[in-house]
Amino acid sequence: MEIICLDLEGVLVPEIWINVAQRTGIEALRATTRDVPDYDTLMRQRLGILETHGLTLADIQGVSEAMGPLDGAREFLDGLRQRYQVVILSDTFYEFAEPLMRRLDWPTLFCHRLKVDGDNRIVDYALRMPDHKAAAVRAFKGLNFKVLAAGDSYNDTAMLTEADTGILFQAPDRVIKEFPEFPVTWDYDELGQQFALAAPATETAIHESPQPVMGVS
Ligand SMILES: [Mg+2]
Repeated sequence: MEIICLDLEGVLVPEIWINVAQRTGIEALRATTRDVPDYDTLMRQRLGILETHGLTLADIQGVSEAMGPLDGAREFLDGLRQRYQVVILSDTFYEFAEPLMRRLDWPTLFCHRLKVDGDNRIVDYALRMPDHKAAAVRAFKGLNFKVLAAGDSYNDTAMLTEADTGILFQAPDRVIKEFPEFPVTWDYDELGQQFALAAPATETAIHESPQPVMGVS
């Protein structure tokens, strides 16, 4: 029995913070963990910038709503969910992702929470746990699932390593070079083919019509 673990940003939806930077014109919000390797330092920097510019949770949700999922993401995910159990493992926050989850028909999402005050300002954040992507894969394997995983960035590589099959999707060159052990895919057809190779459909279809059983009436 297989389960597919997908990263969210860069796989099914665009990068949320980059879109916030584009739509607000605040260049400093383009920084990622590649620029500021410590995640807590990066998040404190981001929250400070939101505070300085008076941006609320509703503003960020407006950006998520406007950007929508990547082209073809909804159809790709719908197809996967007919054949596999699918869980999205992301380092975003439920509050940011909500408009995108609605557009993706509410798939299962494991991520983190923001702390928002009575004026809708984001005052803090709470990671559910560190390194949760790899921990989730380990837990699913402990539940006797074969885990297939796909992601695009450094924060996915522990998950891909832990999975039975790890696949890169539209990853930057340096991630591809540093992790040559993972197959690289560039569109949903290729990614779907890699999943199918690792878990042939005949073993995984869960929505097939039941076959008549001979000799039983
Ligand atoms: Mg990503």
